[in-house]
Amino acid sequence: MLRNKVPFIFLFAALHLLIIKELSAQTPKLIKTIIVDAGHGGTDVGATGQYENSLRSKEKDVTLAIALKLVDELKKQLPGVKIVPTRTTDIYQKPGEKAKIANEFHGDLFLCIHADSGPLKQGKRQVGTRMVTRYKITYTGKGRKKKKHKEAYEVEEPVYEYFKIPLTRSGTSVWIFAAHKTSDKLKAIMDGDENFEIEADGVDSIESKFDFNSPQGRIIANIYASRYQFRSDRLATLVNEEVENTGRAALGVNQRRVGIWVLQATNMPAILIETGFINNPEDEQYINSDKGQQELAEAITKAVQRYKVQVESINNTAPPPQPTVSNDKKPADPVQAFETRPIRDIKTIQVKSNKIEVDIYDDGEIDNDIVSVYFNKKLLVDKKSLTTNPHSITLTIEPGKANELLLFAENLGTISPNTALMIITDGKTRHEVRLSADLKNNALVKFELKNNN
Ligand SMILES: [Zn+2]
Repeated sequence: MLRNKVPFIFLFAALHLLIIKELSAQTPKLIKTIIVDAGHGGTDVGATGQYENSLRSKEKDVTLAIALKLVDELKKQLPGVKIVPTRTTDIYQKPGEKAKIANEFHGDLFLCIHADSGPLKQGKRQVGTRMVTRYKITYTGKGRKKKKHKEAYEVEEPVYEYFKIPLTRSGTSVWIFAAHKTSDKLKAIMDGDENFEIEADGVDSIESKFDFNSPQGRIIANIYASRYQFRSDRLATLVNEEVENTGRAALGVNQRRVGIWVLQATNMPAILIETGFINNPEDEQYINSDKGQQELAEAITKAVQRYKVQVESINNTAPPPQPTVSNDKKPADPVQAFETRPIRDIKTIQVKSNKIEVDIYDDGEIDNDIVSVYFNKKLLVDKKSLTTNPHSITLTIEPGKANELLLFAENLGTISPNTALMIITDGKTRHEVRLSADLKNNALVKFELKNNN
């Protein structure tokens, strides 16, 4: 119901604005402010140690202890960078409040500290026996003379004790918001073919200038997430590597679309670290120990340092190096483009008009990706570097033809593979396509002309 009332003008305006912002946000910048969030707090306890003989520790305390050590370590290793904790004591923060703090401080990174948990199975063990009285029932006679006899006897039966079996699963995992799915979702919203209910996980509207829980707010939040997905993923990968370097089980980078709304609502790259399983005995000991907490804080800090160097060095690359491209202006060889590399990434788009506009941007960091683009084997874009300024081309879709747009990587930029974001407009509908190509594989978009009825 509400959906129909959202002014479409607004949606288009928001999307348009955000596409522009999304792209300008890819312009590298310095890491000046880092937000550290100790998950949960106050009445929101989070997960607790519940297995037999557990420390009965609470996630909110563990996250605070690790976050405080992380804040100290970041300050020590990154002097000059402002480190902002969302909380330093055991206080409750309303949903949305943490994201609001992060946004108000204009963080360049958002690090969320949590502890993992999982459902516990119940075990039972025999702790003794006890005697109980049972009765044996017999009958004699028939018909109206039938008689019931009850005979008592004693039996010994086992006495059980029930307990919760600890988790066997252990290790640290890193989470980012699954922005590509979000992006598809956005497209669906724009096409009006999906009822967009983003699970907001009980997020209520706090007195903020902007209500992220409003339909418009959710769109903005989704864009936040997709805008920073690439960087979040990179930081998450580095954290996973550094955790692995400590010798701890590193469970990898995971994407989740629900339940990590705080990552979605922050206007900056954001990751959530599940430091360990509070219901695994070794992990619970580890995340409660000074040594474990410090080790995690140092691993995360190292990852942030590496990330900072990477992001800021892209910034300082001027003029852009063009490593594998010769400067001659000869067009790329179509034979080479088509025949020497298989097509790995194929997307099919149904369009309603035979005239379509394609804007090609770099997707992710601007890292000097150089590409050529062919349409029906004709060269349209010749060795151009992908930036925030689109290469705009107009295509005529011809019935009976293959109508294939091929992306050919001329180099790998500084970050492999070459990823292009194509905004395709057929007059009515806007499609967002991400393609990735490298020196071994081409990427292709196929257009299918669909009649209007
Ligand atoms: Zn948590």
